[in-house]
Amino acid sequence: MVNVKEQVPNSIGAWVAGEWQGANTASETLPVINPATGQPLTELVENSASDVDAAVQAARSTFESGIWSRASVADRSTVLRRIAQAIGEQSETLAQLETLGAGIPISQSRGRHVQRARLNFEFFAEYISQAAGPVYDQNPDYLTFVRHEPVGVAGLIAPWNAPLALATMKLAGAIAFGNSCVLKPSELTPLPFVPLMSILKEAGVPDGVVSLVNGRGPVTGAALVEHPQVDAIAFTGGTQTGRQIAATAGQTLKRAVTELGGKSANIVCKDANLERALDSALLAGFSNNGQQCLAGTRLLLERSIAAEFTDRLVQRVNSLKIGPPERDDTEIGPLISQAQLERVQGFATLAHQSGLDVLTGGQVVPGSQGFFFAPTLVRADSNSQPVCREEIFGPFVTILEFDDLDEALSIANDSEFGLVSYIWTEHLGSAMRAADALRTGVVWINTPLYRELRAPFGGFKHSGIGRDGGDWSRGLFTEAKTVSLPRRDFPLARMGAG
Ligand code: NAD
Repeated sequence: MVNVKEQVPNSIGAWVAGEWQGANTASETLPVINPATGQPLTELVENSASDVDAAVQAARSTFESGIWSRASVADRSTVLRRIAQAIGEQSETLAQLETLGAGIPISQSRGRHVQRARLNFEFFAEYISQAAGPVYDQNPDYLTFVRHEPVGVAGLIAPWNAPLALATMKLAGAIAFGNSCVLKPSELTPLPFVPLMSILKEAGVPDGVVSLVNGRGPVTGAALVEHPQVDAIAFTGGTQTGRQIAATAGQTLKRAVTELGGKSANIVCKDANLERALDSALLAGFSNNGQQCLAGTRLLLERSIAAEFTDRLVQRVNSLKIGPPERDDTEIGPLISQAQLERVQGFATLAHQSGLDVLTGGQVVPGSQGFFFAPTLVRADSNSQPVCREEIFGPFVTILEFDDLDEALSIANDSEFGLVSYIWTEHLGSAMRAADALRTGVVWINTPLYRELRAPFGGFKHSGIGRDGGDWSRGLFTEAKTVSLPRRDFPLARMGAG
């Protein structure tokens, strides 16, 4: 049995050129809080702009050296597979650290988050060994081929809600294509990155290819985005932060892919498989403590089935096991922070004040330490209510009713966000109409939460710019270079030959 608390260091600093860096006299430290107790777990050494500069310089010189950027695809692929294998071997430690720091129920850290981290490396190991650039030979005089070369140094900025899964998606993509990178996880959830750096080193990632910096967004994150030697930014986080990052990246003309917030509709038609739709409504709304960008937080129910579906949902929500996230049977753990608890409570208070029907929850879990909020269902009277428009990012689902599919699709699209959407129907025509009409980056028909890594993932509208996954990650992490050469000595115009 892993005792993971013993593995949390007293202090977490930066990892640069293959070594941990301690605090210097100017360093600020931040407490890392256990969300299940509200008590400190360790302290984080916040990295300043000059610490970020050191990490970027290490990444730049390693990139220029060619030790990784010009390594063969077979060699890079082998290293990525070794990382995946080590993540598998250390999965229990990683899962427990993820649960300790982020409050994610352990069954979900084990079953989803760590598995996804492993798969991210496996996927890109396979992808780079198969992917080829296009060749154009339509012109009989020329052969033109396209090379995909690493973009250089990538800055990777990740959120706290799925620390390992989301950071490793960027990390695996960046290094698979030969880049060096500097990763900045959320200042709230640094724990799993400590063993991850050792895993990378032991798997054979050369020192300097991956550096880790820690600290708050406006301090450490902003320094990374502003740095002139960083060529690309891959960011996942909130929409407001995404706006700032895109603006700053524009100043230094670096590309920035931003994966941002969501307020996704989960449409249940009367002809749906209602048992599966009910299971899905719980998974979409309440797994990961409701803190996921792709949560189905606006449940849209066709009027004739709404009353019974809602009653059954309330019963199931009331039966969710709320408790310490490290317990095997816990289904709902704490929110990430006091600030997040207050934010979610604020929306519940607003729902009460607006006269909405709070069907269950709507309050802090009585007697709890830490940041536990009761899973909440609110029957809304209109999609214009703030609880239907703003991303709450907690176990908080609103319910609206609709009369026909046109109305459901129009409510679903009436949002500034456009990340994912869900539709439940056994009628193929309705499903295809929804697939056409929904203005979201992903449409899930009769399924919750499926991520196909070969396919693009990202948002329409304020849910982000750009995509990742397969070819789309290659687009982010490489420069395309077009090479043309003649296929025969065709006559050239002879300037100056008289
Ligand atoms: P956040 O925007 O507050 O922070 C995300 C990361 O950005 C953190 O590492 C933070 O330190 C850093 N950051 C903050 N300000 C910065 C700045 N000015 N410059 C550079 N870096 C900065 O988001 P969060 O609260 O950590 O995460 C929750 C949000 O992330 C939600 O809105 C959620 O929807 C979104 N999210 C989106 C996806 C997706 O794939 N679309 C996935 C998960 C989470």
